[in-house]
Amino acid sequence: MRLPRLLLARETAPWTMAGQKGSWNLALRRIAEKKDPSEITRDNVIAWDDHTYVIYDGYPKSQFHFLILPRIPFVIAEESPQGKKNMVTVPPRDMESIRSLLASRYAPAVLGRIAAMEQRYADLDSGDGLEWGVRSGFHAVPSMRHLHLHVISDDLVSDRLKQRKHYLSFHPRMGIWLPLAEAQALADAGQRLPHTDEEYEEGLRKPLYSLDMSRTYNTVPEIKQYLLERWRSMRVAPLSAPTKP
Ligand SMILES: [Zn+2]
Repeated sequence: MRLPRLLLARETAPWTMAGQKGSWNLALRRIAEKKDPSEITRDNVIAWDDHTYVIYDGYPKSQFHFLILPRIPFVIAEESPQGKKNMVTVPPRDMESIRSLLASRYAPAVLGRIAAMEQRYADLDSGDGLEWGVRSGFHAVPSMRHLHLHVISDDLVSDRLKQRKHYLSFHPRMGIWLPLAEAQALADAGQRLPHTDEEYEEGLRKPLYSLDMSRTYNTVPEIKQYLLERWRSMRVAPLSAPTKP
């Protein structure tokens, strides 16, 4: 598999549901069901393996923003008590959200395959010699159906970050952002999501805290200005020489 150069959010176009059946919040599920990656618009897909697709987020909230989706059907080998290997298909409804996945006995297997793909993106090579911090997590209360891991650079600088809830849902300390490692720890312990949707959604009504929690801002334009200045100050100089194209 050949990886294209990773694109910044501002270089990608929002993908549309044009020509797709069903409501917009099923768009990710429709992609997950594609049998062949060539059926996904070339501009949208970044990578794939037998179990996952990596695509650009349609409405990126950071300069790099990808989604990792478990594919449908998701087939794994399961060992019986007698040591016999059986191929089993994870029911798609178990992969509807992180809540339904953590209620499923397949949670460790599905998260394991997603995490294996995520590892390949933990070090973003943007080709510009800059080092990017990356965060990977789920929304405890997602806006679209079908499980998707968000992999984002930690700047939250994007034209498409327009509403308070956009910012708060990606803020690592508002509660609604569930890091991949935390989801895996819950799965390994056989635990479900610990809070109700309503409790998680309280995170979306919190003040606009800075990422380090040291202060709050009143409006979205103010928080965007803070994010832009923060990002610029973190990138005064490339950490290593830029690679030649
Ligand atoms: Zn999402």
